Amino acid sequence: MTRIGFIGVGTMGLPMAANLVKKGFAVTAFDLNTDAVKAAVAAGMTPAASAAEAVAAADIVVTMLPSSPHVESVYSGDGGVINAARKGTLCIDMSTVDPAASRRVAAAAAERGLRFVDAPVSGGTPRAIDGTLAIMVGASGADFQAALPALQAMGANVIHVGPVGSGEVAKLCNNLIAGVTAVAVSEAFRIAEGFGVDAKTVTEVIAKSSGNTWVMENMHPVPGLVARAASSNDYAPGFMTDLMCKDVGLAVDAARNLRIPLFVAPAAQQVYRLASSHGLARKDFTSIYSFLKPSAGTSPV
Ligand code: NAD
Repeated sequence: MTRIGFIGVGTMGLPMAANLVKKGFAVTAFDLNTDAVKAAVAAGMTPAASAAEAVAAADIVVTMLPSSPHVESVYSGDGGVINAARKGTLCIDMSTVDPAASRRVAAAAAERGLRFVDAPVSGGTPRAIDGTLAIMVGASGADFQAALPALQAMGANVIHVGPVGSGEVAKLCNNLIAGVTAVAVSEAFRIAEGFGVDAKTVTEVIAKSSGNTWVMENMHPVPGLVARAASSNDYAPGFMTDLMCKDVGLAVDAARNLRIPLFVAPAAQQVYRLASSHGLARKDFTSIYSFLKPSAGTSPV
């Protein structure tokens, strides 16, 4: 039986690790949050008291952590995976992070005889639960093949994008589009509302028109229109505003380093940043709709 050390059993990590258990992998879980570890035990995993303990006997390490600094410290910090895992262990980081961070961790892992692939995901909690995530992988051909059985236990579309870091590049491109789109959909529906036009009817029209988007169909920011959308559950995440802010920021930073002019992504980033500092940081990112309220002034401009 393949043994997996899984670090970061939060919103996404828990259902993903639970699918590994269902497919016959022996999973040992660690998270800084003890409630998350308890939930992992309830889903059939063995608890670990540290990252080092979780990976000591593992064939494969999976990490699902918030952002680049968390990933770098879990791998390269004191008591980190790179020192604790056995030589030859395959490490799969599924967090959304800076591609440059993935490459740094991969190089440090290789120095100690470990293999590293980046495999960020898309599809949110519903697809994490169903085991139907889209997974974009940066890896050598051999490491991709080695990671495939575990990845197929968590996702329906597993795509080899290119060498290490390439999965993260595809992911930040995707989330730039999703992040900008959620702002555009929210702005459009505030306008419809301002004219007193029914949001449900506008949704039906757009679904059949050129403005149709996956974000509107699955994560509609207006409450009550899509039952499974976070907006219909008081914007409980889902995907937190702070995480979307981080992802759009990854794209903005990458474009700056590449000297590519960017206009709409930085504007969207400011919307998420402002929403975050006004109490929506840990709400679903589509809660920006509740933030983009009409102003109280009487002047139209
Ligand atoms: P989350 O905050 O719910 O889960 C992260 C978990 O990591 C938490 O339980 C936290 O306690 C744990 N953690 C943090 N530092 C740790 C450490 N040093 N050691 C052990 N555990 C640690 O976040 P999430 O929504 O599950 O997102 C995880 C990653 O997946 C992020 O990079 C996010 O951008 C990406 N992602 C999320 C979604 C989504 O819909 N939530 C979708 C696609 C991708």
